[in-house]
Amino acid sequence: MISRKMMNMTKNGSAIRAMFEEGMRMAEKFGKDNVFDFSLGNPNIPAPEKVRDEIIRLARDTDPMELHGYMANAGYPQVRATVAQSLNKRFGTSFSENNIIMTVGAAGGLNVILKTLLNPGDEVLVFSPYFLEYGNYVANYDGVLKAIPAKEEDGFQPDGEALRAAITPKTKALILNNPNNPTGVIYSAEKIREIADVLYERQKELGTSIYIVSDEPYRELAYDGIEVPFITKYYNNTIVGYSWSKSLSLPGERIGYLAIPDEADDSQLIIDAAVIANRILGFVNAPSLQQRLVAQCLEEKTDVDAYDRNRKALYNGLTDCGFECVYPSGAFYLWVKAPDGDDSTFVQKAKGHNILFVGGSSFSCPGYVRIAYCVSNDMIMRSMPAFKALAQDYGLIK
Ligand code: PLP
Repeated sequence: MISRKMMNMTKNGSAIRAMFEEGMRMAEKFGKDNVFDFSLGNPNIPAPEKVRDEIIRLARDTDPMELHGYMANAGYPQVRATVAQSLNKRFGTSFSENNIIMTVGAAGGLNVILKTLLNPGDEVLVFSPYFLEYGNYVANYDGVLKAIPAKEEDGFQPDGEALRAAITPKTKALILNNPNNPTGVIYSAEKIREIADVLYERQKELGTSIYIVSDEPYRELAYDGIEVPFITKYYNNTIVGYSWSKSLSLPGERIGYLAIPDEADDSQLIIDAAVIANRILGFVNAPSLQQRLVAQCLEEKTDVDAYDRNRKALYNGLTDCGFECVYPSGAFYLWVKAPDGDDSTFVQKAKGHNILFVGGSSFSCPGYVRIAYCVSNDMIMRSMPAFKALAQDYGLIK
C-alpha cells in the first residue's frame, strides 16, 4: 500500500497533464493540424543557437571526468560566481557565489527552500490563481498552503489588505510568482512595495520572520517594455527561485538556482541548510553539464518577440470574438473569463471544437481558463475559426 499522502496526491493528479495526453489522443483521431492544444506551458521556441553549440563544445572539449563528476552540492563555485555577477550587473545586488545554489529547475529550488524553512503546520501563503503544484510542494514538508484571492477587479494584482489579514504567527513564507502563471499579470513595483510594507509590519507585530519565495521562471518573458521588479531590493527576507526552463527553452534539462541574500534573517543558516536539502532530497546537485552550459549562456535570450506576436494574435482574436481576457504583460498565458462563469463547461465546449485549454479550477480560481500560447503562430491562426464557432455557441457573436 502506498502512503496516505501519496494516495491524496495521486488522486488529485494533474488536470493539465491529463489534458495534454487527451490532446495527443485527439491528434491521432482528427489529425494533428485539426487539434488546437493550448494546454501545456512547454516552450515551442527552440533553445538559442549558442545553447546547442555550447552543449556540443562542452561535451567535446571538457575532460569527461570533470564534465560529468560530482561537485559541491551547491554547484560549481565558478558557475555560482558567474550567476551572482550577472545578477549584480542587472539588478544592482551584491551576491557572491555563497548566495547562489544551483538547483534542479524552479521546482527543485522550491522544494529545497520549503524543506529548509518549514516545520509541520507552518503556513505558506500564495495569491490565487496560482500554479497548483505549490500545494504538493508545501504538503511534501507538512506545511499548509493558504490561498489569498488576488483582486479580479484590480486585474488579478495581489491584495495587500487581504495579505495582512491572512498572516498568522504560523506564517513562514509567501510564494510570489511574477510574471504570473496562469494570469500573465506582472506585479508592479508599487504592488511589491505594498506587499513588503505589510510583511514588515506583520513581522514586527508577531516577532517572526516571513520569507517571500519569489518563483521566477518567467522573469525574462515580459512585454511592452515592462520591468519585472527584483524583489530582494524591496524586501530583505526574499529568496529568489529562478529557472532556465522557459527563458532558454530547456524545461527537460532541469536547471535553475536559488539566490539567498545576506540581508535575509538567518541567511547563512538558510544557505547551509538549503545545500543539505538539495543533497538529501536526492537531487545531490544540479546537472553538471547544464550548470556549465547556463554559465556560458547568461546573455542569451529566447525569442520574446515570437511570444509577443502570439500574445497579440490570440488576445485580439479572442476579444474580437467577444471573449473577456486579461491583457497579459508577461509569461505565455492568456487568462480568459468563462462566458457563463463555468470553466468546466467552457473547457468541454471548447473540446467540441478541438480546442484544448485548462480550467481555472486547476489554478484554484474557477470561472476562468488558461490558454498557453507557447505554440506555433500558425496554430493560433488556424484555431481562429474554431474559437469563432465557440463564441457562437455562447451567443457572443452571430
Ligand atoms: N513555477 C511555475 C509558476 C511554473 O509555471 C513552473 C513550470 O511550468 C515551475 C515553477 C516549474 O518550472 P521548472 O521547469 O523550472 O521546474
